[in-house]
Amino acid sequence: ATLTAARASTTTTPALRRLLSALAVLEQRDGQLSTGSLSAVTAAQRLGGTVHAFVAGSNIQAAAGQAAKVAGVDKVIAVDNGAYDRGLPENFAPLLVENIKKGGYTHVIAGTTAFGKNVLPRVAALLDSQQISDITAIQDDKTFVRPIYAGNAIATVESADPIKVITVRGTAFAAPPTEGGSATIEAGADPNADTATAEWVSENLAKSDRPDLATAGRVVSGGRGLKSKEEFDRIMLPLADSLGAAVGASRAAVDSGYADNSLQVGQTGKVVAPQLYVAVGISGAIQHLAGMKDSKVIAAINKDADAPIFQVADVGLVGDLFEKVPELTEKLSKA
Ligand code: FAD
Repeated sequence: ATLTAARASTTTTPALRRLLSALAVLEQRDGQLSTGSLSAVTAAQRLGGTVHAFVAGSNIQAAAGQAAKVAGVDKVIAVDNGAYDRGLPENFAPLLVENIKKGGYTHVIAGTTAFGKNVLPRVAALLDSQQISDITAIQDDKTFVRPIYAGNAIATVESADPIKVITVRGTAFAAPPTEGGSATIEAGADPNADTATAEWVSENLAKSDRPDLATAGRVVSGGRGLKSKEEFDRIMLPLADSLGAAVGASRAAVDSGYADNSLQVGQTGKVVAPQLYVAVGISGAIQHLAGMKDSKVIAAINKDADAPIFQVADVGLVGDLFEKVPELTEKLSKA
């Protein structure tokens, strides 16, 4: 890929579009399609050619059926094998490569999720392609836009590889409707049914009844200003519940043990773009802003009027969070 100046519009011709075929790699868990992975379908559609969706795992019919209903999907390729349940890259990458070669795809697209970041680089290596990561826009079939340096610069990259392997930033490609499609479902090739080299042993998941951080419409995040895990929970959780919001945290809060690692927002955490983002006791370091500055409305509560978070905030409240947040929570709960 080479860096080029930004181009204004798509240059894909109708004849070329007919030759484009994209494989959107979807994620599923326990038979339930992950809506967070559907951004891959939206990106695939923007290329203008055929769109196939790929799902794999045990009892895959349910997830395949859901994928078939997603608007814009022409065909679903499904592989029914428990070896692919948890998206282990050692098993999933050869599976994808086999199906990519079989289907003759020009583009392979997944979300910039833990799964996408884990599996697609292996796929790219096996195909001898250079991966194009975390794109936010498509200019034409070989030209893509992606943020670099924690979003401080935008690169437009052009790829000459015959098969483009791409991960997409979910906040830049809204998920398509999950109803209205009527794709056919086809069984895909399964190269390593009996020779899977990696086996899933166990996982410890942080369980929460609150909305999923990556896709929530509202997010309340706490920072080092919360001072301790006890205070983080006491102040932030009721605020989240009063707004029906997901809970996020700055890296300083995570590193200090106030919040779980899975809640980190920012350059090395999750990238979110909810309707409302409330930053509590967060200074607004560029690495944090990289994960939330595209939120529609940003509200900040900080005792330091010069905190950089106020430069990106639409609404700001200068004051002691231990006083202001419980007051706000009470008002919201009554509203
Ligand atoms: P601080 O910067 O310490 O800010 C705390 C704020 O709380 C201050 O503004 C203070 O005024 C306010 N405050 C304190 N007490 C109160 C009170 N009683 N009432 C109201 N306000 C109060 N950071 C991330 O968040 N996400 C990332 O993904 C991330 N990735 C990184 C990657 C790299 C390579 C590096 C070098 C850094 C990364 N960081 C990331 C860290 C980042 O640089 C900052 O250190 C971090 O975001 C600071 O967190 P904070 O705002 O909670 O803490």
